[in-house]
Amino acid sequence: MIKVVKFGGSSLANAEQFTKVGNIIRADESRRYVVPSAPGKRFSGDTKVTDMLYHCYELAEAGQAFTKQLNQIRERYNEIIRGLKLDFSLTEDFEVIKKQFLSKAGSMYAASRGEYLNGKIMAKYLGYDFVDAANVIRFDGDGNFDPDTTQKLLSQRLAASERAVVPGFYGAMANGTVVTFSRGGSDVTGSLVARAVNANLYENWTDVSGFLVADPRVVKNPEIIHTITYTELRELSYMGASVLHEEAIFPVRQAGIPINIKNTNAPDEDGTMIVESTCRIPAYTITGIAGKKGFVAVNIEKDMMNSEVGFGRKVLGAFEDNGISFEHMPSGIDTMTIFVHQDEFEEKEQKVIADIQRATHPDSIELESDLALIAVVGRGMKSTRGTAGRLFSALAHAHINVKMIDQGSSELNIIIGVRNDDFEGAINAIYDIFVLARL
Ligand code: ASP
Repeated sequence: MIKVVKFGGSSLANAEQFTKVGNIIRADESRRYVVPSAPGKRFSGDTKVTDMLYHCYELAEAGQAFTKQLNQIRERYNEIIRGLKLDFSLTEDFEVIKKQFLSKAGSMYAASRGEYLNGKIMAKYLGYDFVDAANVIRFDGDGNFDPDTTQKLLSQRLAASERAVVPGFYGAMANGTVVTFSRGGSDVTGSLVARAVNANLYENWTDVSGFLVADPRVVKNPEIIHTITYTELRELSYMGASVLHEEAIFPVRQAGIPINIKNTNAPDEDGTMIVESTCRIPAYTITGIAGKKGFVAVNIEKDMMNSEVGFGRKVLGAFEDNGISFEHMPSGIDTMTIFVHQDEFEEKEQKVIADIQRATHPDSIELESDLALIAVVGRGMKSTRGTAGRLFSALAHAHINVKMIDQGSSELNIIIGVRNDDFEGAINAIYDIFVLARL
């Protein structure tokens, strides 16, 4: 049995958190490959080491003094080293970093040092091998991630180590230039390591006890999802739910490795299992609810629209030509509605409308702004009659006007559009009926 364990920044913010992590790893022999993030916030209002590095490098790049800021970063690591009573020094590493900053090695190099240094401490603390991600996670000359070379390099290198630490978030081009994934990218590294060693499980340790049914900023104390499929997770993440980096799903999914989201501060709790498919009956009809505010609906009307071949293509072409991606496109007999992101659309609004006018000569084009989309997702909806009925009667009771309805043919999700102002009320009404009332 091989487990790959990834720890987020808050799990490694100080020596106390490191100790919890050490205990978790030592409690299970199969936790053989460890992927750490950089130290995160120790308390609310604190600054993540990654952000300190970006800031420090900005000063270096502008030719300003940065020694004080670099020393503050160094002190974050020294605090951990002292707290763990390790006989270890990062003096030489900081000399190299300072030189690289002076020679303007780039902000990606700067940010990557957060994980690099934390990985070195972690390897020393656990007595594991340290494997620099720059040698095993490969990006091509244009800075795009190269999955095939990475899989080869990583699996070869890790086959030679019984136990190893691979820092998250970065890799390098063949010429050694460091490249990072987008923010939160240590999740991706963890997933790549899990695939490379053919792990039985990818444990992703964070500061919450799993994936929640709804956003805790909207619903008070939402329930934890015990088991979720990759497809459900994908739908929820796309609609704004965040625990795991979006791109972290693909490598393990291809290899059939489940992910377990766990809480470093409550290690005995089960957390959330993310799996390809499951025969486990979900606790509720729905698995989760997520949503986003800030959409515009562009309503186009034209008599006999339905019999006009190519009408849809012409409308969508106007959005494409202006570089705007659309989210949803419900249509009626002689109407068609396109949902787009308000911030993307606003600046190009008049140009898009003029292009639609010219291409399709509609009877009218109306815009409605400040709309929100909410996705209600669940594999349990497929086999349950009346889900939509219960959903809409809950919204009606909460006096919420539904502007748009879209149910995919997979019956895995129902997407509804409401006014931005109704967003919180709608999510709570849906949560209440399916989770609290268990209908
Ligand atoms: N340290 C990086 C960040 O703050 C990457 C990560 O934590 O996954 O985004």
